[in-house]
Amino acid sequence: MALYQEMGVLTQVQDKAFTATHRPGTSAPYAGIYRCTKCSHEIGIAEGHILPAQTHGKHPASLGDIIWQLVVFAQHN
Ligand SMILES: [Zn+2]
Repeated sequence: MALYQEMGVLTQVQDKAFTATHRPGTSAPYAGIYRCTKCSHEIGIAEGHILPAQTHGKHPASLGDIIWQLVVFAQHN
């Protein structure tokens, strides 16, 4: 689970960007932290970079395909 210290630096929102899921090998639609919905492994990634493939080290094959979901959007000013 993503952690943070200061309450004022994150804002909770309801947005479809956080419910959409993404396949490994596709580009991240937003910069931020993504979580594998199967094994809870988290990554930080820049917008447009490729979400890690099935072969990333921490995902047990027994859980099936990786499904990435955005958990924290990195807002650029
Ligand atoms: Zn995983």
